[in-house]
Amino acid sequence: MAEIRDTVILGSGCAGLTAAIYTARAGLKPLVLEGHEPGGQLSITSLVENFPGWPEGIQGPELIDNMKQQTVRFGGEFAPAVVDSVELGARPIVVKSSAGETRTRTLIVASGASARWLGLPSEQRLIGHGVSSCATCDGFFFRDKEVAVVGGGDSAMEEALFLTRFASKITLLHRREQFRASKIMMERVVAHPKIELRTNTIIDEVLGADDGEVKGVRLRDAKTGTDDTLALSGLFLGIGHEPNTKFFAGQVDLDGEGYIRTTNNVFVMHNGEVVPGVFACGDVQDRRYRQAVTAAGSGCMAALEAEKYLEEHGH
Ligand code: NAP
Repeated sequence: MAEIRDTVILGSGCAGLTAAIYTARAGLKPLVLEGHEPGGQLSITSLVENFPGWPEGIQGPELIDNMKQQTVRFGGEFAPAVVDSVELGARPIVVKSSAGETRTRTLIVASGASARWLGLPSEQRLIGHGVSSCATCDGFFFRDKEVAVVGGGDSAMEEALFLTRFASKITLLHRREQFRASKIMMERVVAHPKIELRTNTIIDEVLGADDGEVKGVRLRDAKTGTDDTLALSGLFLGIGHEPNTKFFAGQVDLDGEGYIRTTNNVFVMHNGEVVPGVFACGDVQDRRYRQAVTAAGSGCMAALEAEKYLEEHGH
């Protein structure tokens, strides 16, 4: 009979790794299934300036790497696996992934959220050929080129500011007049000589699909309806994220945007009842705060609840 683990953690971002540190330190030898984006969103971000304890900030990938080392130090394990399905009703819980079948007494879901796309066919065809959702990953390729960033929140501001290191000009395209971004980020963007803001602007098409590379965008003014084109070499999406919950289909309660519904912070719900032994933390269940430190906080809570559950069930 295959081993039954005490704890399996889905996802290796800030929430999953904090849950891993806590459960590892409690002697539960957690297995972290790293998912399709190892390290989560922090691994593709640049300087993190608001994680307590780093007065000068810390690079996202370094913060993640530190947490991984901390997990390993206490006996946690990692598998570079992507989850296919879970059986939350089974005892033990069964997780099927690219690493095979894993059985566990508790499951901590920290599968996070992935970048959102506009959904235009031309955009989808050009992903990786000038269309990107990650300035940190791809900005380097746009040295001295003109690019645009889409969105009006902090992600878009962060992308635009990062791209100023490489691109000659960045046009920030936002569909409304008002921005969601925080005041400090907005001020930096407005003050930057390389960034131009265009509000009330909708993207109808990414140009260049037939050439295999981004040539520009076809734009529409949301107020007047007038069309326009803008020549570009790159288009960066900064329009938010979708929670990664598809492998839970029908087994947990999701809200209107697909986030896992929890009670008492981390207890996963199904048909209004708590699912025993299953806890969710980080961006997969948090549509409101979505910060590294809140993800870490809820990862800690999930770990403590998993420990308590195991203790109460005689393990
Ligand atoms: P967000 O705040 O939800 O903003 C998403 C933006 O994209 C909105 O302006 C939205 O427009 C726009 N958008 C969404 N769908 C669109 C579509 N289909 N077409 C065009 N535009 C679209 O998401 P976020 O910027 O990723 O930020 C999420 C959270 O993470 C926030 O709490 C933020 O503060 C935090 N964050 C912080 C930092 C930092 O402090 N360094 C960096 C990144 C993120 P509307 O405004 O019209 O809805």
